[in-house]
Amino acid sequence: MQTCPVTSSHRSHSLPDPLNAWHTQSIEESLTQLDSNPQTGLNSEQVQERSQYYGLNELEETAGRSSWVILLDQFTNIMLIMLIVVAIISGVIDLIDWRQGGLEAGQVPFKDTIAILLIVILNGVLGYLQESRAEKALAALKNLASPKVRVLREGRPMEVDSKQLVPGDIMLLEAGVQVSADGRLIEESNLQIRESALTGEANAVNKEAALTLAEDTPLGDRINLVFQGTEVVQGRGTVLVAATGMKTELGRIAEMLQGVESEPTPLQQRMTQLGNVLVSGSLILVVLVVVGGLIQSGGDLGVLQQLVEVSLSMAVAVVPEGLPAVITVTLALGTQRMVRRHALIRKLPAVETLGSVTTICSDKTGTLTQNKMVVQWVITPQHTFQVTGEGYAPNGEFLIAETAVSTQEYPELQVLLQGCALCNDAILQYEQDDWLILGDPTEGALITLAGKGGVDKEPLRRQFPRVGEIPFSSERKRMSVICQGSNGSAGTNDGQGTYLMFTKGSPELILERCHSLQAGDRTEVLTDEQRTDILRHNNQMAGAGLRVLGFAYKPLDAAPDDRVEKSETTEQELVWLGLVGMLDAPRPEVMDAVRRCRNAGIRPVMITGDHQLTARAIAHALGIADQHDRVLTGQELQKLGQSDLDKQVKEVSVYARVSPEHKLRIVQGLQRQGEFVAMTGDGVNDAPALKQADIGIAMGITGTDVSKEASDMVLLDDNFATIVAATEEGRTVYDNIRRFIRYILGSNIGEVLTIAAAPIMGLQDVPLSPLQILWMNLVTDGLPALALAVEPAEPDVMKRPPFSPRESIFARGLGAYMVRIGIIFAIVTIILMALAYDYYPLHWKTMVFTTLCLAQMGHAIAVRSNTRLTVEINPFSNPYLIWAVTVTTILQLALVYVPFLQNFFGTEPLTLTELLICLGFSTSLFIWVELEKLFIRWYKNR
Ligand code: ATP
Repeated sequence: MQTCPVTSSHRSHSLPDPLNAWHTQSIEESLTQLDSNPQTGLNSEQVQERSQYYGLNELEETAGRSSWVILLDQFTNIMLIMLIVVAIISGVIDLIDWRQGGLEAGQVPFKDTIAILLIVILNGVLGYLQESRAEKALAALKNLASPKVRVLREGRPMEVDSKQLVPGDIMLLEAGVQVSADGRLIEESNLQIRESALTGEANAVNKEAALTLAEDTPLGDRINLVFQGTEVVQGRGTVLVAATGMKTELGRIAEMLQGVESEPTPLQQRMTQLGNVLVSGSLILVVLVVVGGLIQSGGDLGVLQQLVEVSLSMAVAVVPEGLPAVITVTLALGTQRMVRRHALIRKLPAVETLGSVTTICSDKTGTLTQNKMVVQWVITPQHTFQVTGEGYAPNGEFLIAETAVSTQEYPELQVLLQGCALCNDAILQYEQDDWLILGDPTEGALITLAGKGGVDKEPLRRQFPRVGEIPFSSERKRMSVICQGSNGSAGTNDGQGTYLMFTKGSPELILERCHSLQAGDRTEVLTDEQRTDILRHNNQMAGAGLRVLGFAYKPLDAAPDDRVEKSETTEQELVWLGLVGMLDAPRPEVMDAVRRCRNAGIRPVMITGDHQLTARAIAHALGIADQHDRVLTGQELQKLGQSDLDKQVKEVSVYARVSPEHKLRIVQGLQRQGEFVAMTGDGVNDAPALKQADIGIAMGITGTDVSKEASDMVLLDDNFATIVAATEEGRTVYDNIRRFIRYILGSNIGEVLTIAAAPIMGLQDVPLSPLQILWMNLVTDGLPALALAVEPAEPDVMKRPPFSPRESIFARGLGAYMVRIGIIFAIVTIILMALAYDYYPLHWKTMVFTTLCLAQMGHAIAVRSNTRLTVEINPFSNPYLIWAVTVTTILQLALVYVPFLQNFFGTEPLTLTELLICLGFSTSLFIWVELEKLFIRWYKNR
């Protein structure tokens, strides 16, 4: 073995530079250079050395926006710009005051300006922290979604994190995989790779391992190499990893990096618009007040200062400074809660729109079922075998009429079992006292079945090496392998043929391609009665919910090499071997999830590649459809025009034997009917349907990288129940957003009206300074709003129909509520202001300020539920709100009673009586909201 120094300062000469022109080298040369072995892969020592030498297989993030740019960006927010202008104007006014009369003892000069600027900076820094935090959270999510790669190490296949790949690794590729490193192909079968991420070429490229190319071959034509970031569309291949991390072609153009996208959600966009409207509105208000005031006073410039102060306060009051931060936090917390429930959000808008889903289209295998297959029946042309045993352990018996038999005595069964083992890409492993499957569970169950019958896959594969294959795809619904045979071997007892092809797949399709059947050790012509019989057995098993595969074989004289026509000509005139029926039990938790879906007005729909009877049986067991409900098959769907399909999608809840392109048509049909569709997918060809769906959902365990890339959300546990859980979280997030918008904007309206009322009532001063307003908007409104953002779901959250994703955020009475509460808020405060102005002339402003703040505390408590009275809600179900209300009240009292803060915020210490009066007035808002709930309840029950 070559040795290599492990420090980067002391560069090894024995390990090659990853930037070599690998396409010019033969397979053997590349293997020698990288000191690797295609049969065993690297050993753990080599892997360790190399990972230290070459580093992790990671793309360094492109520089992106620097921290400074992110920070400066915060100050381009129109609301903050307006606050800065307010600070400057307020500073100018202070300066004039100071010049004219000097400062009163103890007064802080320019305090409004300083405070506003401080708050602007604080808001900017908070925004910056949130944005960086959000980016970090998304990066962490990206890590969670980091793909796994199948490699050969220590002589056996295993799955490793793509980060752990090193040059020299033997990487195994199959359809749907995103290639995780650059490498030299060693062997391939029908391998097609889409390299658009790298070359821009949309069509997939056919790869060939055997070629050696000229040095100047352009990247797109290097068909003996594979590149990181590209996608395997079809076929299979074995690759010698040559370059990793930043040394790959993708690494060299790192801006191509695709990651978790962080686009603004529709809500965030609407909020930005709202911000613009509010700012422009407040500017118009300022102009109106100043011009109107000047005209009223006959152009007396003496009143100008007061008018400007009133306008500034109104301008500050109308803008909900705390809102953007609260929204960002809510969405971020929403994604975290969803991850805890195994749903990984890839595109932020999904958090908010998940709650609007009206139809969930789900795959069957693995999502509604457990994907733990166990073969229960094998039906050959002459016998019906029941198979015992559990899980993937290859221990069990074959029974005929409940009596155990030896598989050796049934030649056609022997051939079928060999087909199970050879026409198979999965690997059965014994690890930590358990039998585990690497690869497709369907194929895993077949290896187990072969094992139970005494047929061991590995020795058999050495005896009959694979020389060709036509891979499985959801469209073809079958796969074939061609193995080199020897005379006298299984299936060639009559000595004909030196090659053997085994085909397995959807029984109807396989049977169509058979012209004879295997009876004992002879082949016979397949009669129509026998075909009917086989299909009857198939339907019996499928009707019982079993997944059924058909098996056939064919002796060949030569291995076919024509790629394109291979399947059409070769998979014909086959010899029928038998049916294999396996149980894939429904997931127990799905039944409840389906019920919850229905209660929530969401229609679950099953879309499967499996047989219609299997689909119906499982759908019935889960409550998705009735026993007699219509099942639409891919074939029938194919014949439907758009308008017919549109009619059908409204009623059909089970689709069977469909191909990925049918899924796309189903989503489009549902969307044309106004449905908001969530759709699951796992295969490489599911990507268009996932993109088309309103919420595209990929499978975290069995899903291909390509499907994950196209999705909005990834199910970490592949479980249907997780979609329902995520939907519930989505609804809760949306409810909470509406809840704190009601809370915050209602208060803003109240403030503006109160300030505007002061000059109308002839009061000599502005009741609230800009600084006090900022305090209210950011702290006394902000803290409780944050607590409202984590309010637990209302009990009826999954008992009501979904809301339209296109509805305005102010829909269903929210806008009216805000205005109503704003007016009530203002009326209460104005009455208090009028009283206090007359009876407590020294403290009236502080009383207004305090009442507004305390009233908002009552409002925060009352707004927790739209329907339930506060006494009906457990106060401890949201402990954050208790904290927020307590802390905010203490802070507010500190502002009134701590001398330094009094000075700064311009407050006066209230007497106990004054404080109690404020408290009394503020509770009226709470009482009002509670009475509203009672009224609505009475109105509904009338
Ligand atoms: P779902 O779409 O719900 O996940 P599915 O797994 O049955 O269901 P596909 O994977 O598209 O859907 O499979 C379609 C059909 O192809 C299966 O019903 C089966 O008959 C056949 N099939 C599945 N896996 C294989 C395989 N590994 N080899 C050969 N045929 C297969």
